[in-house]
Amino acid sequence: MKTKIFCLSAFFLIAGMIRAQSQPQLRYTVSMPQAAKGKFHISLDAAWFNQDSVVLKMPNWMPGYYQLMNYANTVDSFVAQNINGTPLTVRKTNNNTWVILNKKNSPFRVTYQIQTKRKFVANSFIDSAHAYIVPANHFMYVASMLQLPVQVKINSADQPRFKKIATGLELVKGKTNVFTAPNFDILYDCPILVGDLHELPAFKVRGVPHRFIGYNMGSFDEVLFMNTLQKAIEQGVNIIDHIPFKEYTFIGIGPGRGGIEHLNNTTVSFSGNELKTPADINRIMNFLSHEYFHHYNVKRIRPVELGPFDYDKGSKTTQLWISEGLSVYFEYLMVKRAKIVDRTMFLNNIANNITAHENNPGKAYQSLLQASYNTWADGPFGTSGADKNKAISYYDKGPIVGMLLDLAIRNASNNQFSLDHVMRLMYKTYYQQLQRGFTDAEFQAACEQMAGKSLANEFEYISTTKELDYQKYLGYAGLTLTSTEVEKSGQKKLQYKIGVLPSLNPDQLAILNSWLGD
Ligand SMILES: [Zn+2]
Repeated sequence: MKTKIFCLSAFFLIAGMIRAQSQPQLRYTVSMPQAAKGKFHISLDAAWFNQDSVVLKMPNWMPGYYQLMNYANTVDSFVAQNINGTPLTVRKTNNNTWVILNKKNSPFRVTYQIQTKRKFVANSFIDSAHAYIVPANHFMYVASMLQLPVQVKINSADQPRFKKIATGLELVKGKTNVFTAPNFDILYDCPILVGDLHELPAFKVRGVPHRFIGYNMGSFDEVLFMNTLQKAIEQGVNIIDHIPFKEYTFIGIGPGRGGIEHLNNTTVSFSGNELKTPADINRIMNFLSHEYFHHYNVKRIRPVELGPFDYDKGSKTTQLWISEGLSVYFEYLMVKRAKIVDRTMFLNNIANNITAHENNPGKAYQSLLQASYNTWADGPFGTSGADKNKAISYYDKGPIVGMLLDLAIRNASNNQFSLDHVMRLMYKTYYQQLQRGFTDAEFQAACEQMAGKSLANEFEYISTTKELDYQKYLGYAGLTLTSTEVEKSGQKKLQYKIGVLPSLNPDQLAILNSWLGD
C-alpha cells in the first residue's frame, strides 16, 4: 500500500510540474531609483509562452474612471531580451501595443520606465516621499490572456522613506513585498501605495475588519474620525445586508480631490486637516461613503457592459447614472441614517444637486442614459465635451432621480419596500446568483417588482429630458421644493431648497421617518 501511494504521489507531482511549467508565467518587479524624477522602473520576467511572438498591451483606461487616459504615453525605454541578455526584436504596432519576437517557450525579460507628472487618483505618481501605483498605468497584459495569474514585486530598497505598502493585492506567502493576483482584472483593481504610511485605528463591521492606511493624512482626532466613518459604513452594509470580503481598506493617497472604487479597497484623496466644520465632515463622510458603497454598486451590482472590460477602447454603458448617480444618493442616506448630519443638511445635499441640474441648459438636450453613454466624450461631469451646454452630469440628475424612484416605490408599496430593497435584490440576483451584469430593462424590472406596479412614467425621467415633477414625489414624504433667485458671478439663477410641509399625514410621516432612519 505504501509503495502504491508513493507512486501515485510521484505521478501527480510530475504531472503538476508539467502543468505548472506549461502555464505562462508573468513576474513584474517595480523599482524606484529615480523617484525624485517621477520615474518608475519596471521589469517583466515572462516564461512558458507557447508562441513565437508575444503581444504586450498597456490599458488605455482604468475601470472606475471612465475616460481614456492613454497610459502608454507614459512608457519609455522599452527593451526586450532573451535569457542570455540578447536583445529581441520589438515591433510597436500602435500606441499601446508592443510585439516581441522570441522562440516559443523561451523565457524573456522586458524592461521599461513609466514617467509620471501629475498627482491624480487615476494615474500613477512618484516623488521622493511616496509612490502611488495604478496597475493599469504600470503593468502590460498579454493580448487575449487577461486571465493569466501575475506576480508583482515592489523593490523600494533605493528609497529609505518608502517603509510601508498598502494594497488590496494578496501577499505571496513567505515572501516580503511580493504580491499576486489571479488575473489581470484583479491586478488592475488593486492600486499600490508605498511610503511612510500611517494607519488609523481599524474597526470591524459584522466581524469584518475595515482599515484606513494613508500618506500625508494630516493631524486630526483619528479615533473620532474612524468612529464616525464606522457608523456610515454600517448603514451602507445594512442596505445590502451582506459583506463579500474578508477585509476592506481605505487607501489615502494624500490631499486632493477624487477617489476610485475597487472590490476590497478604495483609493481616496484625503487629508484629515480638512475636517474642521460640519460642512467639511458632511462632504468627506459623503465622499468616503460613496466610494465604499461602490464595492456593491458597480463592482458587484454592475452594468452588463462593465465586465469583461475593453481596456483598449473603454467599456461604454447607459447605466452610469445607476453606478455613479445612485451611489451619490446612497452616500447621502448612509451619512444621514448614521446621524452624522441632520435632516436639513441631508435635504440640502439633494437640493444642491437640484440647483446644479435645473440651472444647467443641458437638461433640455441630454437624458441620463445619454449622459452615461457619452461620458467618454463629455468628461466625468459633462463639462468637457464639444458643447457643455448640451450635456448634463449624472452626479446631479442621478441622485435626484434616485430619490424620486425611492419615494415612488415607498408610496406604491405602502412603505413596505424602497430603493434599498431594489439594490439588495439586484445584488442577490445578478451578483450572487447569476454572477453577471444587468441591463437597463432588468433594473427597471427590479424597481417595478418592489413597487408592485409599472414605473414607466418614472423611467421616462431616465430615458428622456422630461421635466422632473419634484412636488409629486417629495409630497409622498411630506416635503416640498421651493426656489429663490440669486445672483452668482453676475448671472441670475434659481437656488432650490427642500423643506418639510407644515403638517404631515401618517403616511407621509411614516415614509419620511423610515426613509431617513429617524
Ligand atoms: Zn463614484
